Amino acid sequence: MTPGADRPSPGARVRDVEFAGAIGQPGQAPPGDLPEIAVAGRSNVGKSSLINAMVGRKRLARVSGTPGRTREVNFFRIDGRFFLVDLPGYGFARAPEAVRATWRSLMETYLQDNARLRGLVVLVDCRRGLQEADRHLLGYVAGGGLPVLFALTKVDKLNRSGRQKAVRDLQAALDLPADQVVATSARTGDGVQALVDALYGLVDDEQGGNT
Ligand code: GDP
Repeated sequence: MTPGADRPSPGARVRDVEFAGAIGQPGQAPPGDLPEIAVAGRSNVGKSSLINAMVGRKRLARVSGTPGRTREVNFFRIDGRFFLVDLPGYGFARAPEAVRATWRSLMETYLQDNARLRGLVVLVDCRRGLQEADRHLLGYVAGGGLPVLFALTKVDKLNRSGRQKAVRDLQAALDLPADQVVATSARTGDGVQALVDALYGLVDDEQGGNT
């Protein structure tokens, strides 16, 4: 490794990742003062698998068979540069109202008035498309100017034309430019590096101070 080369070049894998802590109550302080990029999606969308694929670990974020079970906001420190923040999955239809109320208040508090937040990645299952619960989440950041990226997950389940249609449908649903949607598969690795590069782009933009 080149001495002093502490900024990964585009396309480089995440070099160093560690679990930094979790918050379970609205208003709790994060485990440090770094820029944050949050990742959100419906339960079972493939969020744990995609986070693990992005950071190159098998079991960093827990791949859970129980939708809605992970209810904390988990912070992963990436190369000492930013926190990748794993938000609790949502849209679990059978969760009690009290659980959903806690989720709403945790999300609202975390996503609004968060000066460290640099971007939000919303994961959407390529076979299901954008759901009402996703729109609800997007409502928390609407109008705030926060960069939002969308990752379609599990695209290994679709053929080429199916993927293209899934991307087009998502773009059309929210009137998104093409570069805001990434087609990914944690299983094959498709799109994973593109998403990692996009995350670094969010942090680099800011550190360049030119935008
Ligand atoms: P989470 O609840 O959003 O964290 O989702 P998980 O990562 O636990 O994944 C939910 C289910 O989807 C599991 O059965 C995974 O094996 C499966 N899964 C996750 N990512 C992929 C993928 O890229 N392709 C396929 N085919 N299945 C996936």
